[in-house]
Amino acid sequence: MVERAAPLPPPVYLDHHASTPVDPRVIDAMCEAMRTLPANPNSVEHGLGRQAAAAITTARADVASLVGCDPDDVHFTGTASDAIRKALQLALAARGRLRIAAMPVEHPATIHALRQLERQGLASLHWLKVDNCAQLCMDSLHAALRQGLDLVCLMAANNEVGTVYPVAQALSACLDMEVLTLVDATQAAGRIDLVPIALLADYLVLSGHKIYGPKGIGVLAAPRSGPHLEEIFAQAGTPDVPAIVGLGTACRIACEERAIECAHVLKLRDRLEAGLRLSLDHLVVNGDTGNRLPHSLHVAIPGVPNDAVLARVGHQLALSTGAACASGAQEPSHVLRAMALPEALAETALRLSVGRFTTEQDVDRAVHILVGAARAILSARQENIPC
Ligand code: PLP
Repeated sequence: MVERAAPLPPPVYLDHHASTPVDPRVIDAMCEAMRTLPANPNSVEHGLGRQAAAAITTARADVASLVGCDPDDVHFTGTASDAIRKALQLALAARGRLRIAAMPVEHPATIHALRQLERQGLASLHWLKVDNCAQLCMDSLHAALRQGLDLVCLMAANNEVGTVYPVAQALSACLDMEVLTLVDATQAAGRIDLVPIALLADYLVLSGHKIYGPKGIGVLAAPRSGPHLEEIFAQAGTPDVPAIVGLGTACRIACEERAIECAHVLKLRDRLEAGLRLSLDHLVVNGDTGNRLPHSLHVAIPGVPNDAVLARVGHQLALSTGAACASGAQEPSHVLRAMALPEALAETALRLSVGRFTTEQDVDRAVHILVGAARAILSARQENIPC
């Protein structure tokens, strides 16, 4: 009899910045909504329509609790990218042509939307300074505010190196100068307290699939949005009730379990970092290690090109060399360039992130696989063997 090879264990998932697995409780809530809420939530003439509308109201309240805003200020969008574009439309409607300041390490969704406004002649852009940890230089924000701005765009936490920004402090400086603010809280939601931020922000954005909810649903919280909001959402069509229910459930869980979850991922992230440091002498940890998302670990392994690592471990580990949208490209990401990370290090950069369902065994396996791959690549390079 031919012996069958034992099935390979599934890859360890260490790419939570790109997307998080959907929480089973979210899946249950979405399936229940699909089974029991057949009606269009706009069909409020009948009971089933009102039930669907009520499910949206509940979800909106759950999102509002996580964000710390009024439920009426929560608007559902297709994605966070969509929410960012809508926020910019609102700012344009409120102020006309915009003088905008943003960090060069913002997510490409923001950078592309801003550049598009610039090309259309609707905005002039001012790029704020960041240091080699991707941290905002507050002086550059104050200087830009003094020169005159209409809108400041700030991410609450970086999707590549995990740096967390002093957003509340920045927002109060903007508020003093009557400058509008757009906060991309897509990576920060469920990981840091958004309440002090939402109190000060004009527009705040988040995404379902970064908080163990479904993909293809986002939020724009716009507490001071004014009369243009209805115009901008008028063509939104029939709301996706199961996705909204899923997002609401994800927000409720994130709100209730944030403290426990942050402690869990922090412990695992530190175990991962310690395990790699122990075996890889010259490991470099990037980002602002004193102000970092608890699940985030961005490293460079000198002498070990990241494409060689991915080629060896891609079937065992899900990780990336940068932001999901930039990975696959040979160029260092715009974030690493803004940090002025030397090219030789940028070529070895790996973005790792643990999550709600990661275990200690997963982390230990990941360390074992990564260290093995790094050592094999280093010795192949020493012997001039292509790796
Ligand atoms: N902003 C940040 C910081 C992100 O990490 C992402 C996704 O990677 C986005 C915005 C865009 O999110 P979405 O995929 O919902 O458009």
